[in-house]
Amino acid sequence: MTAPGRGYVGRFAPSPTGPLHAGSLVAALASWLDARAHGGRWLVRIEDVDAPRCVTGADALILDQLAACGLQPDDAPVSQSRRGALYAQALSQLQRAGWAYPCGCTRTEIDAVWLARGVHWPRHVETPYPGTCRCGLAGRPERAQRLLTAVSPATGAAGVVIAWHDRRLGAARQDVCAEVGDFVLRRADGLWAYQLAVVSDDAAQGITHVVRGEDLADNTPRQIHLQRVLGLPTPFYLHTPLVSGANGEKLSKQNGALPLDLSDPLAALRAAGAHLAIHTPADTQAAWLQDAVARWRGRWCDLACD
Ligand code: GLU
Repeated sequence: MTAPGRGYVGRFAPSPTGPLHAGSLVAALASWLDARAHGGRWLVRIEDVDAPRCVTGADALILDQLAACGLQPDDAPVSQSRRGALYAQALSQLQRAGWAYPCGCTRTEIDAVWLARGVHWPRHVETPYPGTCRCGLAGRPERAQRLLTAVSPATGAAGVVIAWHDRRLGAARQDVCAEVGDFVLRRADGLWAYQLAVVSDDAAQGITHVVRGEDLADNTPRQIHLQRVLGLPTPFYLHTPLVSGANGEKLSKQNGALPLDLSDPLAALRAAGAHLAIHTPADTQAAWLQDAVARWRGRWCDLACD
């Protein structure tokens, strides 16, 4: 349990695939409010490991947008593209301990295994990895590195079932072995996978509290498993409500969310705050942020559960 102000480190970790939109400001604001309400530090990490999806200049634009809203990080932002050595170190630790293994499967081969087993995964569900290469590549070239989920690191029993607590969503549980399978640490295109980068960075930066959008909640059990096999601490998690677009789908850069309109940053903050059930009548940006921190503190800084 982390006492308020004592060692709290939070972060906002945008992928620079475009400017912030109304949905990403909600996550940014919530993580900033939580850090300020706990008297902690707030960091910004640019998650640009997936280079082909990144847009040149989006990182600087995001930092400008945050600054326009009065959300200033307490340290210089770091970029994942410069932290490959950290991820390589984590992967080699996992390989040495027998948790990571090479995989030679293509997507088509993975689908064929499930078809042969008579299992058909619905289109919207990510196909779990069937474990084909756990016992070796059978002469095929290595494509990716995967993390073993067949054995519990704590008990040695079969499977990995993660029970965890989200400060907003409550108790949750996922059978990582059955629902996800051995997941990718280094991708077939040679890039570091999000799960390995985020877990390595959260630990290296001493992150104690992760506050991010609810679309990432089902990644949390994978990240907790990875923390456990790497011997790293698990932060507290709070997943914020998503903002939907006019079509009812989650607002995202992929479905054409408009960049934040910062001609009136206070209006943007009010809208993001309303989404977090934070309403304050303050009519300057500084007063609004100060009031919002006090309201957030009253609501989310319960010593017993964060
Ligand atoms: N980079 C991720 C995103 O923009 C967020 C990762 C995280 O907060 O863990 O969706």
